[in-house]
Amino acid sequence: MSVEELQLIFIPGPGIGHIVPAIEVAKLILNEETRLSITFLLINDPSVREYTNSSRCHSDPHLRLLNLPKLEEERSPSSDSKTKSGLAPVRSRVHVDRHRPLVREAVLNMMATRTRVIGLVVDMFCWSMTDVGDEFSIPTYVFFTCGVGFLSLMMSMRRLTDEHGVDITEFKDSDELISVAGFLNPVPATVLPSVITDKNGGAYGVVSSARRMRKSRGILINTFQELEANIIQSLSNDDQMPPIYPVGPLLNLETTPESEFSDVIRWLDRQPRNSVVFLCFGSEGGFSDAQIRHLAAALESSGRRFLWSLRRRRQRKTDPSIPIEILPEGFLQRTKGAGRVIGWAPQAAVLSHAAVGGFVSHCGWNSVLESMWHGVPMAAWPIYAEQQINAFQLVAEMGVAVEVRVDYREDSEIVVTAEEIAAAIERLMEEGSAVRERAAEMREKSSAAVADGGGSRESLAGLVRDIMRNSSG
Ligand code: UDP
Repeated sequence: MSVEELQLIFIPGPGIGHIVPAIEVAKLILNEETRLSITFLLINDPSVREYTNSSRCHSDPHLRLLNLPKLEEERSPSSDSKTKSGLAPVRSRVHVDRHRPLVREAVLNMMATRTRVIGLVVDMFCWSMTDVGDEFSIPTYVFFTCGVGFLSLMMSMRRLTDEHGVDITEFKDSDELISVAGFLNPVPATVLPSVITDKNGGAYGVVSSARRMRKSRGILINTFQELEANIIQSLSNDDQMPPIYPVGPLLNLETTPESEFSDVIRWLDRQPRNSVVFLCFGSEGGFSDAQIRHLAAALESSGRRFLWSLRRRRQRKTDPSIPIEILPEGFLQRTKGAGRVIGWAPQAAVLSHAAVGGFVSHCGWNSVLESMWHGVPMAAWPIYAEQQINAFQLVAEMGVAVEVRVDYREDSEIVVTAEEIAAAIERLMEEGSAVRERAAEMREKSSAAVADGGGSRESLAGLVRDIMRNSSG
């Protein structure tokens, strides 16, 4: 009689910052438990196709990637999921939810073979897929790709809504201070991510997903004990919460030595140790033209060496152009030799380079973990998603970043002046500062967390034990 295959199904969220850590944690799970196979059900997302086709995703025979069929509206030859009316943006809740019947069908098909599906791991964006797990009585875990600080904030928002009748959208533009489990400081309402105060369904989505996550079998988080110890402890002590598994940092540190970016790396090779300010704002972060000019002026007046990944506000993800025409006249000539303006940056390789002494960042969670991994201090300049709360944590709770503006956001009218930015760059690049020392400490702690016997490895082993318990049912 043939032996049943034990299968774990991953439903990763759209976006490179979601798929990369999901692949990394899947590989770790497979290393830990050789009886398991893992299948990824992929939502169509052109921005990650190059990565999902790469050898990184296809080197393990027990790891399979299946593309879910395209949605009806995506199949029309003229469709462009970012812009055409009637189509929700790739990363929106509505877009993800439309895939639920496709996920259901794929799971059913797998269950019809000699495969025993013993668990679903759904990305935090795909929480509505927990319905599929419930319907087929498959234990469902959530993969939370942000820090545990944001998870705790979401849980606080749920509690305020469900247990205290608070309308959380009223926090918009308020000066309230909010107590969030595990945070050492009260959280100012000004650093609440826009989605939390969004009256057009965003706030509803946050609270609904927090409710669902509380009912999940467990929550895997891309963080590590020493980075967010108080918050992990606080959520773990809450008996209404499922087990929390901090399994990070989950990073793809693979870099291709001879690539289109070799030129940038060779330029870094010629710069002194810790001398270069690296500026990069994630896969979607860009600024208004006025803000770009202030930033350029700040770099010029600081006299620091810099490497700047420049994007315009609302520049499409797939548009590789570098909008140098917005820069002040003569900027590129005057900074020639000392600075470089580029498009997409080889961020992981840049942060690992000894010449880089500081990172001006939008504080996307993967960027935070990459910076900590290499011990590079940050200057916090959040733009979209949950980045404001990350920025607040980095500055006020962890002490690994200086502040540019922790309450900056993409739709704000704020323009941070050249003087403010230059002052932040000076604090960032200061030798021997507390922030630099703390970042160096985090480098040690992040690699210890994922080394044999480290906290995140232990946590992963606990998770795998729990998953395997489902195989004997
Ligand atoms: N990234 C990169 N080059 C860029 C911009 C981003 O390599 O020019 C990578 C970065 O290293 C990180 C990911 O894209 O791994 C961005 O994830 P993060 O969570 O920081 O931000 P998001 O793009 O999800 O807002």
